[in-house]
Amino acid sequence: MQKIEHIGIAVKSLKDSIPLFEKLLNTACYKTELVESEKVNTAFFKTGPNKIELLESTDSDGVIARFIEKKGEGLHHIAFEVKDIDAEMKRLKNEGFRLLNETPKTGADNKLVCFVHPKDTQGVLIELCMEKEV
Ligand code: ZN
Repeated sequence: MQKIEHIGIAVKSLKDSIPLFEKLLNTACYKTELVESEKVNTAFFKTGPNKIELLESTDSDGVIARFIEKKGEGLHHIAFEVKDIDAEMKRLKNEGFRLLNETPKTGADNKLVCFVHPKDTQGVLIELCMEKEV
């Protein structure tokens, strides 16, 4: 894995959380994006080379809504950039990690993503992401 690409934080309302994080990080949100397949609205911030992704559910039955119901708002996942997502998924599978999706799927920010089961990673949801080729 190359580096931490971003940290994902589950929030109830982007309308409330975007101004809060703009104040906290002293930088403007540079992008919001709806990821229809995941039923989430996302908002991105840059701090130096690092990114923060806020995630708001668009559906009361979406993964983020269910996460907040169980655990409340807060840290949702850590995303690592990988060079070859297929190779990395295969490597992790061979190491015994369960993946939440068997093939890479389209995530926010022009990325192919895959999630590793948090039960296999000490409770922390791990996202692999790879820039899609344009
Ligand atoms: Zn993410």
